[in-house]
Amino acid sequence: MTQTPVQPGIMDIALYVSGESALAGREDVLKLSSNENPLGSSAAARAAFAAAAGDLHRYPATDHAGLRAAIGEVHGLDPDRIICGVGSDEVLQFVVQCFAGPGDEVITTQHGFSMYPILARMVGATPVTVPEAGRRVDVEAILAAVTDRTRVVFVANPANPTGTMLTEAELERLASGLPAHVLFVHDGAYAEFVDGFDGGAGLVDRHPNVIMTRTFSKIHGLGGLRIGWGYAARSIIDVLNRVRQPFNLSNAQMAAAEAAIRDRDFTRHCADLNARLRARMRDTLVQIGIACDESFANFVLARFDSPETAAAADAALRADGILVRRVAGYGLPEALRITVGDEAGVNRVLACLGRFMEGRA
Ligand code: PMP
Repeated sequence: MTQTPVQPGIMDIALYVSGESALAGREDVLKLSSNENPLGSSAAARAAFAAAAGDLHRYPATDHAGLRAAIGEVHGLDPDRIICGVGSDEVLQFVVQCFAGPGDEVITTQHGFSMYPILARMVGATPVTVPEAGRRVDVEAILAAVTDRTRVVFVANPANPTGTMLTEAELERLASGLPAHVLFVHDGAYAEFVDGFDGGAGLVDRHPNVIMTRTFSKIHGLGGLRIGWGYAARSIIDVLNRVRQPFNLSNAQMAAAEAAIRDRDFTRHCADLNARLRARMRDTLVQIGIACDESFANFVLARFDSPETAAAADAALRADGILVRRVAGYGLPEALRITVGDEAGVNRVLACLGRFMEGRA
């Protein structure tokens, strides 16, 4: 054990728990625990990644100009107002590093993404958890929780793990109701799964203290490569770039991400398939007696009558080689978060849960 004192607050950080990837001794495992793309990634992205092998000896571009230009083109955004990071997690980290510190408060919500309080504590700030209303972010409760020490508000929209979403009117109310000393981070990790949604880009354009974050890990199927980005006012991007390591993204990451975002056919296909299978999952779960809110993301939250039933359902799924996510750590012990798989995966989950519910009837 080192004698060097650990910085205050570091030992209060709970280690992040990720979705499991293995089930001992089984090869037919269906992993639906990390909201990954069941179709993998775009063939163009994989080809670009392989081609980047020729550049391994070269340092990557520090300004990510090519990738930012591609993102700007596809989403209709000014590339100078974009910053790229090692997953959107890194962009979220830049935000707390630059705008929160010891004594400051960072607002997250009752069932919010578990990285938010971790990030707050990393910089010595205090996470403040605001209640939700029926598994939906409660805008008025957030506004009521703001103090002089509040610096950042994190809201994922659609939210993980509930899958619920705020309306445009609620987003406007939140953005315009926050005082000028508070930054609103609109985390759009699952934005592409909502038909016609801009992920919060318009909100950023209308309100100077809103930052939108996005990821290549979900719809683009590049979770293993770790690429995310943020969009905000130039003045905010300028601040964030000061704490970014110059070579944070590799040539291969940027090449794959650029090809992925330009492959609009693959993106659309993934979104369409997800929407269709997500609806089928929810309808069937409700039919067999499992509660399920409408989800706007690439997963559904299956709610059982008790934490014990959720644990038994999880065990039944595991026995069939299916890994889903327990979300007790998110204040939802009676629920399982299940990623929408491909057609065969969805069939397997629904058949297993159908048998499980029949066995309890
Ligand atoms: N925000 C939310 C709401 C998420 O669910 C995730 C992934 N679990 C992230 C951000 C981080 O994604 P990444 O770092 O892979 O871009």
